[in-house]
Amino acid sequence: MIDFQSILNAIAKTAANADDRGLIAGYIPELATIDTYKFGIHLIDIEQRNFSAGDSDERFSIQSISKVLSLSMVLGLIGESLWERVNVEPSGDPFNHLSLLEMENGVPRNPLINPGAIVVADILVSLLDNPKEDFLAFVRKLANDRTINFDKKVAASEKVTGFRNYAAANLLKSYGNLVNDVDTVLDFYFHQCSLSMNCNQLANTFFMFINQGKCRKNNIFLTTGQVKRINALMLTCGFYDEAGEFAFEVGLPGKSGVGGGIVALLPNRFCVATWSPGLNDKGNSKLGMLALEKLTTETELSIF
Ligand code: GLU
Repeated sequence: MIDFQSILNAIAKTAANADDRGLIAGYIPELATIDTYKFGIHLIDIEQRNFSAGDSDERFSIQSISKVLSLSMVLGLIGESLWERVNVEPSGDPFNHLSLLEMENGVPRNPLINPGAIVVADILVSLLDNPKEDFLAFVRKLANDRTINFDKKVAASEKVTGFRNYAAANLLKSYGNLVNDVDTVLDFYFHQCSLSMNCNQLANTFFMFINQGKCRKNNIFLTTGQVKRINALMLTCGFYDEAGEFAFEVGLPGKSGVGGGIVALLPNRFCVATWSPGLNDKGNSKLGMLALEKLTTETELSIF
């Protein structure tokens, strides 16, 4: 059996000694003050054995990782009709680019870039009685953890500086691909991005993606077909314009966020979350990517 704990310990040790740790995402003021020396990693395997190292219990802003959770909730609620409003192709562009949206008549390339996630948020705002509360309840159920919450300061901070997201939402509205008003949808979107979780909670929440749509308590959240689709989207679109590089280096589906978190997984085997707030120039956690490359190289476990 693979000794995951020793491998995680070695990864955390290498991360602690790294000189080049990347740069914090300063465009959300509330994130700009986080210590770049933080590093955490947590892995859960299909038998629900848990392994962790470093700052794996410290909460951080999961940001774009939340897009996978909102997508899961929407797919569970409306199924395939989602694809009438969002495409499933990688964009090869940064997460907040708008040019493609205009060229493609307001249909976002995929649900994991900002315009796509804003359309998903719009659908949830239409469907849910109390969108923010109901979404939070969904995540808590998935994680089997009632302590998970939004970070209202981060949400407020992004509201003040989220000019590009306002531009994206307005563009979507002009193409008729946003039903609700821009402020309501973005208020929901900024809250979902502000979810504060640690590596342990993230790995456990994403367990359903290695377990055919069933959470750790064996409750069914998604069909196997839906899990297949979401995992495919994570592989092709989960890392901004660096999805090719992540597949090349790490070889797993996953999703990153500008808070420095990454979740990656091997279906039927394990799910792993890392956190290190310094980002590379594509917006992915610098040490997180190195850690996951080391994990899949040492264990020889990847989808390839
Ligand atoms: N809330 C962030 C934004 O919309 C999410 C970006 C990310 O994590 O990629 O700019």
